[in-house]
Amino acid sequence: MAQNPLVLVVEDEAAIADLLKYNLEKEGYRVAVASDGDEALMAADENAPDLIVLDWMLPKAPGIEVCRRLRARQNTRNTPIVMLTARGEESDLIRGLDMGADDYITKPFSMSELLARLRAVMRRIRPGLADDKIVCGDIVMDRVSHRVRRSGRDIHLGPTEFRILDHFMQHPGRVFSREQLLDAVWGSDVYVEVRTVDVHIGRLRKALVEGDESDPIRTVRSAGYALDA
Ligand code: CA
Repeated sequence: MAQNPLVLVVEDEAAIADLLKYNLEKEGYRVAVASDGDEALMAADENAPDLIVLDWMLPKAPGIEVCRRLRARQNTRNTPIVMLTARGEESDLIRGLDMGADDYITKPFSMSELLARLRAVMRRIRPGLADDKIVCGDIVMDRVSHRVRRSGRDIHLGPTEFRILDHFMQHPGRVFSREQLLDAVWGSDVYVEVRTVDVHIGRLRKALVEGDESDPIRTVRSAGYALDA
């Protein structure tokens, strides 16, 4: 089973951060909390988030700067960012959207409104999340029956290859380092050699590609792997 999506909450006000964490966890998300930009970048390096909730009023570097820095990194280049802004700060808002934020919520916000917005963003970026069936290019995965087909042909995968493909299919096009794949597929508390990932990627490729079919898994030199649709 793929892990639940990870939300990184960047907010220095502990009461708000706690409230967000509590409610997001109740919704089934995993949550990491950072109280400033440096912590946010460190947390994102450690475990790539699926979504970032970023407060605009932060100590040290302001949210807009944190947003720029997150966008400059491989890990979080394409991660949706929902910013929290004070009401009436229109110029912040415009600059934030310019800087690559995907959506915004003005404070004070209702939790149900925030959760609805995050659900909408998640549906957009991980359409597979709500469905038992995920489609990526000519690959179709049925997560209930654990069946995978490519161009109508059955693909037989071992459990590890299945989990790797599941993870890729939920984030098409996104590059994952070997360490990130280890965390996502094996879990962060298990010690597995990084090279093991290459072995399983090799098996997955072999299973997916027949004859002169294209290889859907892209190797990104010194970065990792991605699944291209
Ligand atoms: Ca704040």
